[in-house]
Amino acid sequence: MQFTSTRDPNLRVSFREAVFQGLAPDGGLYHPIETPDLRDLFLSFAPSQSFADLAESILPRLFPEEISPSVAKRIAQRAFPFSPALRRILPEGDRKIQILELFHGPSCAFKDFGASFLAAVMEEFLKDEASHAVILTATSGDTGSAVARAFYKREHIDVVILYPSQRVSPLQEKQLTTLGGNIHALEVKGSFDDCQRMVKEAFVDPELIRKIRLTSANSINIGRLIPQAFYYIWAYANLSPTEQEACIFCVPSGNFGNLTAGVLAWKWGLPVQRFIAATNINKVVPEYLQNGIYKPRSSVQTLSNAMDVGNPSNFERLSRIFHGNHAEMHRWIEGIWVTDNETLHTIRTYYATEGIFLDPHTALGVRASERYLTEGYTPKPNCIVSLGTAHPGKFLEIVEEATGKRPPLPAQLQAVLELPKQAVMIGNSSEELKRFLMKRF
Ligand SMILES: *Cc1c(COP(=O)(O)O)cnc(C)c1O
Repeated sequence: MQFTSTRDPNLRVSFREAVFQGLAPDGGLYHPIETPDLRDLFLSFAPSQSFADLAESILPRLFPEEISPSVAKRIAQRAFPFSPALRRILPEGDRKIQILELFHGPSCAFKDFGASFLAAVMEEFLKDEASHAVILTATSGDTGSAVARAFYKREHIDVVILYPSQRVSPLQEKQLTTLGGNIHALEVKGSFDDCQRMVKEAFVDPELIRKIRLTSANSINIGRLIPQAFYYIWAYANLSPTEQEACIFCVPSGNFGNLTAGVLAWKWGLPVQRFIAATNINKVVPEYLQNGIYKPRSSVQTLSNAMDVGNPSNFERLSRIFHGNHAEMHRWIEGIWVTDNETLHTIRTYYATEGIFLDPHTALGVRASERYLTEGYTPKPNCIVSLGTAHPGKFLEIVEEATGKRPPLPAQLQAVLELPKQAVMIGNSSEELKRFLMKRF
């Protein structure tokens, strides 16, 4: 499988190149050129198969030239010591909605799948080249922790994470700063925008990039998207035959990476009836699906803040898959947007009736799924698999506000609270970042 840029169809790069470059030189996103037909493989998976085994058998079929079966085994087994889970819930006495829980990894959110896979792939490729790379990334809190955990103790790789001092939550700070080893946390006296600017300038500093192999691990990297397709396939394998006949996936979306990955799985042969693009009031994509007009705008803050995106970066990829054809995209994807009030109400209801905690992002998806079933949307499925994107313990305050009860903090997060913070404080100039990097690597 080779990749091209969403902006320049003449560009062709290998998976390895796409992974280390992140963004194409023209500013576009890397996107697969071929569309392999893997339906026979997808239909052969049994519910008993582990997620890592499933990933192991898909990889050599996707990348026959770059990932041999033995390399696939190493990557998959190292990347996925954790697994998704399916949980049936009871919307209005019905059993049609199942939550695909994607928050059992080290940072308790679905981004662990992409980050951990990318880390395992980079480690494998770097070992092969006897090379060393430095991942440089800025975080406003949440995304950095999945990256930090994923790359912790990987050989041939160091990670430098910039975060704005005093502007991330105490738990987020602990997640970023307590690992040590090959994970270097830089506490920047400045804003998230400063952190982003410093990282951007480092990537174009000739002296730095001559000395250090700098790379990024951000969410638009195709190496994070590909493994996200795998859990749609895993979920499908775990449905009953009736459910498999007419199954819809509902995806709480912000930058639309998760949904794009699901659509890729469908393109590769997964028999999905349709997708739901669920958003909060940042409803640029649901509106586009309605009227064919794509109008990005500034984001609005909501309770599902990991989805507060006004100009989703993966829209370019999604649109590309449907050849820019709005009607075709709407045939396969329904857009539903949900208010904060509905989200709170959903968290409250499922706690009251079933005793389960939902985080705001997952609850939003569940609400969109309910509305798809009860309002005039067609076709009606036998089942909706709604993606559970984060552990409720990551959003304690909101869940407590809705239910009156504090959800338990997951063990992974509890553990980091007790570890000491290790961060280097720096100012908000690119010069300071450069000095740190030149001295350290
Ligand atoms: C990142 C994130 C999302 C949005 O996913 P996209 O791939 O950006 O659409 C949803 N929920 C949670 C908890 C997230 O962290």
